[in-house]
Amino acid sequence: MFINGLRIKMVVAATLIAACFIPATASAQVSRSPVAPRRELVESVVREAYEKFKGDTGGKNADYIPYLAQVDSRLFGVAIVSADNQVFTLGDVNYSFSIQSISKVFTLALAMEELGPDQVFQKIGSEPTGRPFNSVPAVVDMPTHTGNPLVNAGAIATTSLISGKDANEKWNKILAFYSKAAGETLKLIDEVYGSEAATNTGNKALSMLLAKYERIYADPFESVDIYTKQCSIGVNAFQLARMGATLANNGINPATRKQVIKREHIPYVLATMTVAGLYDSSGYWAWHVGLPAKSGVGGGIVAIVPGKGAIAVFAPPLDEAGNSVKAQKVIEYVANKLDFNLYSPASVGLK
Ligand code: GLN
Repeated sequence: MFINGLRIKMVVAATLIAACFIPATASAQVSRSPVAPRRELVESVVREAYEKFKGDTGGKNADYIPYLAQVDSRLFGVAIVSADNQVFTLGDVNYSFSIQSISKVFTLALAMEELGPDQVFQKIGSEPTGRPFNSVPAVVDMPTHTGNPLVNAGAIATTSLISGKDANEKWNKILAFYSKAAGETLKLIDEVYGSEAATNTGNKALSMLLAKYERIYADPFESVDIYTKQCSIGVNAFQLARMGATLANNGINPATRKQVIKREHIPYVLATMTVAGLYDSSGYWAWHVGLPAKSGVGGGIVAIVPGKGAIAVFAPPLDEAGNSVKAQKVIEYVANKLDFNLYSPASVGLK
């Protein structure tokens, strides 16, 4: 568990499990890590981070989607959901913002449910592009053309892999899958969709280029339209944290206890987030934070602490790479204070 209120009991329980040879099925129910920090510590560190960065005025709302330019840039919410469904929230956590590129993670997971990881990586790829998220030259230059499932070209191609008898059936399948990951019914934000659909000429161009290379697997414009809808799904920070916690918890939603994503697919999803989740800042992020994460131009970032939980932060102003400035700062602060960096032995209790 992400937040551990009963650390000593947990260690005793783990010892008992080992000593009694309780079958794997019984121990598989335990969705908590014996090295997770105590709840009080998590709360105080998140409060500290919130206070420290709430006045930060760095960055600028995305404005290439007109709707996003007019969202209040002072909005700021932080939510944590642990693998055993403990919740801690602060600030504007009920405000529904567009999920944007964070959606790409869940469409990737859905594509893997349908085709399996080998097919997905053969059809899309998994390398960073070294270019901005909407790059045309990357599509031309990359040997796979699609790059990876988290840049726009690869994400549109991933959306094109989702099966259905028509566009509506594909869209409804995507929305239902995200809702299962959140444990709540999610909805399209119509104004975001309208605003983005009226201005997404760049993504349409990418889809046509992919068609030239035979790296898109359904009608290009239909795929862009479904992709634009998936990016316009509304989530609040809490719902986003719970979607992240589903990834942290072997694909099981901690609230509904339903297996949403096959457990064997989770490492591939998290590896992809490590490679490209923050676009061309993914290297910086791996270096300083060491957690798989995904950002969206709506201002959200979700970071996954495997086996422990997820933290989601919403704050609209973005840096040059398209990542929320405050969200990055809060997650970096919290991850360092709580020893979440996966590349640090401290993350498994070795200090
Ligand atoms: N819908 C946005 C786009 O395609 C998503 C980009 C993002 O969140 N980085 O441009």
